[in-house]
Amino acid sequence: MTKLMVFIDGTWLYSNLRHLAKESNQPNFHIDYGALPHAVREQIERQSGLTGLQVVRTFFFGSYPVNYDVVDEDRARKRKDFFRMLREDYHYEVEAYPIDYADRRILQDDREADDTFSPREKCVDIALASAMMYFAAIPGAFDIAVAVVGDKDYFPMFQRVRNLGKRIAVASIRQSCAKVYSDRQDEKRIKDFHIIWLNDMVDRIAWVPEESLVECKSPLHEGNREVLTTMRLREGQPFFCDSCRAKFAEQKAEQMAEFTASASLAGHRGEEEGEGGEGDQHNEGIVDAIIPDRGFGFIKRRDGASFFFHLTHLTNADWGTVNVGDLARFTITKMPQGGKAGAAGEVTIVESAAGNGRSAGNLTRR
Ligand SMILES: [Zn+2]
Repeated sequence: MTKLMVFIDGTWLYSNLRHLAKESNQPNFHIDYGALPHAVREQIERQSGLTGLQVVRTFFFGSYPVNYDVVDEDRARKRKDFFRMLREDYHYEVEAYPIDYADRRILQDDREADDTFSPREKCVDIALASAMMYFAAIPGAFDIAVAVVGDKDYFPMFQRVRNLGKRIAVASIRQSCAKVYSDRQDEKRIKDFHIIWLNDMVDRIAWVPEESLVECKSPLHEGNREVLTTMRLREGQPFFCDSCRAKFAEQKAEQMAEFTASASLAGHRGEEEGEGGEGDQHNEGIVDAIIPDRGFGFIKRRDGASFFFHLTHLTNADWGTVNVGDLARFTITKMPQGGKAGAAGEVTIVESAAGNGRSAGNLTRR
């Protein structure tokens, strides 16, 4: 058996999707990540005449925002849902690193025109290089490494991996590929196959969205609750339609300003979270207040620290079923500060205190 490992520079791929979108004439082009590793494998088989290649693992290296303007929470959440989908649906190994937005909007177009801030991604290329080098050094881990990349920085690593007797294939995008990879003469001696152009396989790797009718669980929803969506839902994850999500974003921004620390912890959190993986520590606490008609509540951790959460933060329960006294596990997006509550990110109800009933809770200053 000839073993293939696929290493994807997710940040590069993501920022060059528009070229594939153009190629495929679909402005909403998305990649089918289940198909991608196998589409690349087929290309190698076709080129080389090798048969029986097996993709034994696929790695995806990317980043996610931290410390951003809360208005963008939905956008940040989608990134995490995407990584989760890669892990759960396709068994990718995902390595993601935080990018500190210093309390700003995530998209440049949403920032002030004279704001010179530019978010800095860290670790992604080194993480990819380290992983490929590491597995190349482990006997029998793989025979062929497929790098889905475009940046020039990787070529010294490819040389080293080839020195270990491994074969390298590069898959890239024509409009964003360093010359060193497309060079037919391969002067740097970095590859064992012709370059594979994702441009030429857009139909094979396009994700075809499937629409389904789902019930919007938002208490703010107007009209028929059954909505057509292409969104992929995890089991137990409540669905909210686009217009309810927009309303939530406004509501949340107001509530966060009212109840949680307004000063950001810029410069600190990013580093604390920088240990690789998703970085969020899991915390446990008891739901100790719920304001049912305004769609938010508070969780108290054992050390007494209090955290604001909104109904959209729930990962496995409907707002109507959450009770005071429930045991919840949650991630933190803001630490409590200056006597104000912190803010939770994702909230998972671990144990229900059903029977205690819902109570309006006490809205004293925290
Ligand atoms: Zn709705």
